[in-house]
Amino acid sequence: MASALTDRLSRLVKTMRGQARITESNVQDMLREVRMALLEADVALPVVRDFIARVKEKALGAEVVGSLTPGQALVGIVNKELAATMGEVDPATGAVKPPADINLAAQPPAVILMAGLQGAGKTTTTAKLAKHLIEKRKKKVLTVSADVYRPAAIEQLKTVSKQAGAEWFPSTATDKPVAIATAALDHARRHYFDVLLVDTAGRLAIDEALMKEIAELHAAVKPVETLFVVDAMQGQDAINTAKAFKEALPLTGIVLTKTDGDSRGGAALSVRQITGAPIKFAGVSEKIDGLEVFDAQRHAGRVLG
Ligand code: GDP
Repeated sequence: MASALTDRLSRLVKTMRGQARITESNVQDMLREVRMALLEADVALPVVRDFIARVKEKALGAEVVGSLTPGQALVGIVNKELAATMGEVDPATGAVKPPADINLAAQPPAVILMAGLQGAGKTTTTAKLAKHLIEKRKKKVLTVSADVYRPAAIEQLKTVSKQAGAEWFPSTATDKPVAIATAALDHARRHYFDVLLVDTAGRLAIDEALMKEIAELHAAVKPVETLFVVDAMQGQDAINTAKAFKEALPLTGIVLTKTDGDSRGGAALSVRQITGAPIKFAGVSEKIDGLEVFDAQRHAGRVLG
């Protein structure tokens, strides 16, 4: 188990007490520790490099105030930059603010398209979001599965939608994904649903045919939100997955699942930086109510260990 970054840095900078500034000569060793901490948290290497360069720029010459050592000051800078990178910064105050809730500003039904690798938690998250929209936003919600490759996935969505209190639109494995989604949209329109959540086929790895299929689904149903669901425990690969989905789809938000696992969740930093889309929610358990608004500040502390 890695020791906390703060401890590591304070060991490293014991000799630096009393220095009033972070300088080129004392910052290198400290940044090496930051880099190791981020790599141990499974942040992708190119993202780490970029991040370190930004921190270095911010840190150099920063005043070290009061009783802080340069190490403590640097941890503060790293923490702030990490939260700012993973979260949303209020331009007026410079403070990290909570992400916006699901955008429903569309002629009803507002369509939400769920994208991500198989096993990321798409179906579970679809139901969690349905529950959130029903209970917190008082919306009438329909779900549909366009995963024609796994009939079990369609049944799974039926079960969890029921638990969420959402209606479920039946689909069969012999239908085409676009036909399923447009039929569901038509049903949602005629029955005055506020929201249609479209769960999609999982892919074990990036697969061109499936990427093309989800892009066609996107063009057919014109979602107001296209959410990329990603497992917080995904390591270095998160960067490639995020790149592929960003190229295929105009992503509007991210849901980071399985943050209750024991990983340090560095995928959040990689995915946020690659897609530029806000991380809106975090999955915190397998249960239907295990969804929280993403807290970048809290997650930053966890990534640093
Ligand atoms: P899909 O293939 O992307 O649709 O993924 P599923 O929704 O079927 O989820 C895959 C597995 O991850 C299931 O066993 C879920 O219960 C589990 N899962 C999803 N989200 C979370 C989460 O936030 N925390 C935990 N612990 N498990 C989750």
